[in-house]
Amino acid sequence: MGGDACIGVDLGGSYLKAALVDPSGKVLEFRKTALQIRRGAPFAIQTLVAECRTLSESAARLGFRLRAAGLGIAGKIDSASGSVIFSPNLPQLDGHAVAAPVEAALGVPVVTGNDADAFGIGEGWAGAGKGIENWVGATLGTGTGGCLMLGGRLWRGDGLGFSGEIGHMIVQPGGSSCACGMRGCLETFASESALVRGAREIVAEGKTQTALAGLFEAKTPNARSIFECASKGDPAARGLFDRMGWALGLALANLFTALGIRHAILGGGVSGAWDLFIGPLRETLSENMSMLPAAQAVVLKSALGESAAPVGAARMAFLWAGEAVRR
Ligand SMILES: [Zn+2]
Repeated sequence: MGGDACIGVDLGGSYLKAALVDPSGKVLEFRKTALQIRRGAPFAIQTLVAECRTLSESAARLGFRLRAAGLGIAGKIDSASGSVIFSPNLPQLDGHAVAAPVEAALGVPVVTGNDADAFGIGEGWAGAGKGIENWVGATLGTGTGGCLMLGGRLWRGDGLGFSGEIGHMIVQPGGSSCACGMRGCLETFASESALVRGAREIVAEGKTQTALAGLFEAKTPNARSIFECASKGDPAARGLFDRMGWALGLALANLFTALGIRHAILGGGVSGAWDLFIGPLRETLSENMSMLPAAQAVVLKSALGESAAPVGAARMAFLWAGEAVRR
């Protein structure tokens, strides 16, 4: 064993996932912990530092030299200062510097970016996007992240701190309010928060014959419990996944047509409900594309699963460390 290693972190709406990764993209150690963002930014940053420290110790124990760390954070990020500008799903972190405390704790450079961009870099490097030149990525988690991989590289737009935010494409004007402040975004259909809100609305309408009603008796349901209801055949729960597929299909049809591309890769925890939404997604895709025969559209599931964004964040760190050496 031995050689270089980087730490990659995915700071999502609910969980912090972190991995120690070698230069080939192999995950040497993976950690996942609840972020508990409601306890505030200092607690979240403390958790982040502690997780990174643990992986740094693992690197030393395994005989690897830690070169750098990469943080993929859900939101609009100022990479130059390593701080969060605006995070719809982690608003407690707005304005907070996250790279500096990690840098101080680890003693290595820390690079920051968006979590869905890290997903794209990870899948493109060592996952389902390997060898695919152009594709759209979407992460279905607490919210809906997105990225564009064009010409084999992450599309960064005008360097404004956001790009490929397909979760905030409006698919239903005037629809439900989104965490970003707009209405009818893809995220209001294709995320855990969309499933939970949808279930709550169904129950509030008095449709008590649905198994969804029972989910609210003990505590607030989550994507998994709603998925279980749908898997057992509950029509109302299935309807939530049908509309998720519809919204994703509509967004992808528009993106494929606008960009002249035909591949998409979907990840994030909610993509585990694949069988429940992929049918309606493909149907909507084929109904809304005039330029591309539906059979040529390719929608793939993430190959790296939970480690996709951490692996991508580690890749960002490796690239940064390499650049720094060359400079
Ligand atoms: Zn939005």
